Amino acid sequence: MPILICKTLTMPLMFPDNVVGECAECGCAVQHRPHAPPDCALQCMDCFAEEAAKHGKPVKVDMTDETKRELGAIKRKLMS
Ligand SMILES: [Zn+2]
Repeated sequence: MPILICKTLTMPLMFPDNVVGECAECGCAVQHRPHAPPDCALQCMDCFAEEAAKHGKPVKVDMTDETKRELGAIKRKLMS
């Protein structure tokens, strides 16, 4: 099953429409964008880093097209 790497819960949320869930490894509260693929196990960044270090090899990380568009818009706004 693919893994969705998530930011831990913040208040306020990083984006007001973020979805709150639970890390499949440690159970901490996490948040992700509402357009994230639904068929993924949620994993917090700490658990992902720990697991990636165990494997000792590069991990393929990707993001959805919608997330790429959102990050591009944020970058353009910050650069203007
Ligand atoms: Zn975790």
